[in-house]
This record gives sequence, structure tokens and C-alpha cells, in this order.
Amino acid sequence: MDAQKSSNLFYQSRARRPEVDRADGIYIWAKNGTRFIDGSSGAMVSNIGHSNPNVLAAMKTQMDSATFAYRLHFENEPAEQLATVIAGKMPAGLNRVFFVSGGSEAVESCVKFARQWAVAAGQESRWKVISRFPSYHGSTLGALALTGYGPLKDAFAPLFKDMPKIPAPTCYLDRDNLNDEERGLKYAEMLREEIIAQGPETVLAFAMEPVGGASTGALVAPDSYYGRVREICDEFGVLLIMDEVMSGVGRTGTFMASEHWDVRADLYAVSKGFAAGYAPLGAMIADQGMVETVLDAGGFAHGHTYAGNPLACSAGLAVLNEIDRLNLMGNAQRMGDVLMGGLNELMSRYEFIGDVRGKGLLTAFEMVSDRETMAPLPKDLNAYNRFVDICYDRGLITYSRRTRGGVDGDHFLICPPMIVAEEQISEILNILDDSLTAFARDAGL
Ligand code: PLP
Repeated sequence: MDAQKSSNLFYQSRARRPEVDRADGIYIWAKNGTRFIDGSSGAMVSNIGHSNPNVLAAMKTQMDSATFAYRLHFENEPAEQLATVIAGKMPAGLNRVFFVSGGSEAVESCVKFARQWAVAAGQESRWKVISRFPSYHGSTLGALALTGYGPLKDAFAPLFKDMPKIPAPTCYLDRDNLNDEERGLKYAEMLREEIIAQGPETVLAFAMEPVGGASTGALVAPDSYYGRVREICDEFGVLLIMDEVMSGVGRTGTFMASEHWDVRADLYAVSKGFAAGYAPLGAMIADQGMVETVLDAGGFAHGHTYAGNPLACSAGLAVLNEIDRLNLMGNAQRMGDVLMGGLNELMSRYEFIGDVRGKGLLTAFEMVSDRETMAPLPKDLNAYNRFVDICYDRGLITYSRRTRGGVDGDHFLICPPMIVAEEQISEILNILDDSLTAFARDAGL
């Protein structure tokens, strides 16, 4: 990473990357001519690849019509059509769509909508939203209250009311005698216990990422977890919020990742792959009956100026068309299997890879110092930054974090766009292989 010299622009730190020149398919070029494979689709965003001509054409057509028309003054066709297409892809009854511009806004919308629904339904005592640790639900104050990731939230603790947390199902770290199904049920029971401890009449909702993202590195719970969580929510009248900001819109091989376990939530948050980097777009997808209740009671007291922006919605609509036309969900499943196979093969050769996990093309591996105990690599090795830089120097973009169930752990998300071809997966795996060798040498492993 280059140090920032002189710029009026700033992000989280002084570190800066080279300037982007152009992007096409799974590739991005820097202005200095270097070509990169977008091995993480940015931050799991560019799901249909870069510069898709049909998406660009749809956006250009919309630009010639209207790029903005405020929702209190005009309806717009792309927003209407996009809501209809989404409703057609969701389980029955989940057919009301509230547009926003990003993931944090989508999560906040779910929380505020759930609360308004509870008040309208005569359940005013319910306000707590239980979530998991670790987890990531966004960086605005409301979403931070749900987020289970200290480095991004601790400094702001006085500014919001933190919400109760239960452990995320990091079963791969457990050293007990349970089988997979029993472990899934064990973690689901933690929700039941927490609801009882909090007082069921105070609990509004449970929010979870069905397949984890940056906070856990593509964490997937055992199959038994998902259905049991739904049952527990139903037992206590607690709403289930699926944060599918990263896992939704096809990346795991189904439209919503939660479909893999046949779980119907009450509210869904989506963004990222929704307009796939062509425009900022997110949404809350809600149960029709709940929406009617809130609208009958005077309306949803929430919204953002750019909601339902026609240009963003034209991009979202074209992205969903491309996902269907190119059968990208099928490709995500097939290529996810190929990638997972390749990562497992790397794990068989590199002792310091302790786990490979994921669903479809939401895939990750974790580095450890001891595979038996799953002890993490020493923090001062700085593996999560160092390995990303080694890959970057070899033209592969990856995404990493150092966090897992309450202790440190370096994990790396390998999530190329859903258009990725088998030869390109091989290219990614070859660069990873070379980078792992370099990392091992460099780190003295
Ligand atoms: N929820 C999940 C699961 C995410 O992965 C993210 C972003 O990484 C968010 C919410 C927040 O989305 P945004 O960064 O668009 O606000």
C-alpha cells in the first residue's frame, strides 16, 4: 500500500491503493497498466462482473429519461418493476419492497420497521433486537448496535444502545463430542436462552447473516440451526430478520442464502450484489401483512432522499435480468464447488490453513498456527494484511479480517464475480498457491 501523499480525500486510514483505470468482467486495471483479478468482487459487490453491456445500456436509456424524480412527487417505472421482480423471487407473502441506498440503511430500515410494526400491533413492550457475536450489520449507529465487532463500534458505545448478543455458530472451533446436527441445535438453543433471559415480552427480533460475511469469513451453520432458529422465534413471537446484504441476490447459488435451509424470515436486508456496483442500491423486503399493518397505523416513519432512485433501480433491474439470462446462480453453485475443491486441495498442502468454508461463491479460508487446537497465528505476524498484499502484488484482490468467535483469527474471503469461468478459478488458485508459498517463506512458517 502506498502512503497518502497529498489529497483532499480521506478514508479510514492514510493507506492508498493505485488509481483505477477501467474494469471488465472479473478484471480491473490500474492506471499504471497492472491487471488485477477481482477475486473478492470488491467487497462482495460486483457479482455480475464489471462493465456488463446490458446493464450499462439500461442505465444509459434511463439517463436519457430521468436520473432523479423525488418519490413524493413522482412514481418511476424502474422502481416499480424492480419491486415486482423481487417479489416474484421471494417466498409467498414477502412481496413488499422498501428501497434504500446501501446495506446499513437496509438493516436500519428492518429494525425501525419491526419496531413500528410491533407498536402498531399492540406489542409496544418489544424493542430488543438480539444479534450474534461476531457479526457485521453496518456502520451507522443503529446497525452498529446489532454489529458484533468491537474495533468498529467500541469508540461509539455511548452514542447508541447496544443490543444483546449470542455467539455466532463457530462450530469449527468447538472441541466437543457433538455431531454437526447437535452443534447446530446447541447454538440455536442459545437464542432461546437469551430470549428467556431478556424477557420474551421485550424481544422484538433476532437478526442474523445466514452465511456470514466479513465478520466471520463465510461462516455457515450446521443445517439443523436454521429451522430451529425459526421455530424459537415463532415460539416467542420474535421477528426474524435476515441480513442478506452480502449473501443475498444469488451469490450463494440461491436468490436468498436462507433458501438453502427453507427458512422464511419476516424481513430481509439486501444491498451489495443487488445493483452489483453499478449504482448504490439496497432494500428491505417485508411481509405484506406487516406492511399493511404499519401503513394502516399511519405509515412508516423512515426513509432516505435517494430511495427508489430511477437510475439505481434501472441498474438493479438489469442486474437481476442478467443473473437470470446467464443463469449466474447456477454458475455460482458450480464454480463455488470448483473453488471450494481447490481451496481444500491448498489446505491439504499448507498446514497453516485451518479451515475452508462457505456456500456457492461466498467462500473463505482461515489461517491458524495449529490445526488441532485452531490456535490463531500470532497477531504481530499481521497475516490478514500481509497475505492480502502478497496476493495484490501478484494481481489478485482478496478480502480479509482478523476476527472470529470472540478470539483473533485471520480469514480470507475468495468471492469472485458470479460470471467466473473454470479457467479463471484455476488462475485464482494458482496465484493463491504462489502467494501462500511466498507468505510461508516470508512469515517463517
Ligand atoms: N450487513 C452485512 C451482512 C454486510 O456485509 C454489510 C457490509 O459489508 C452491511 C450490512 C453494511 O452495508 P454497507 O456497507 O453498504 O452500509
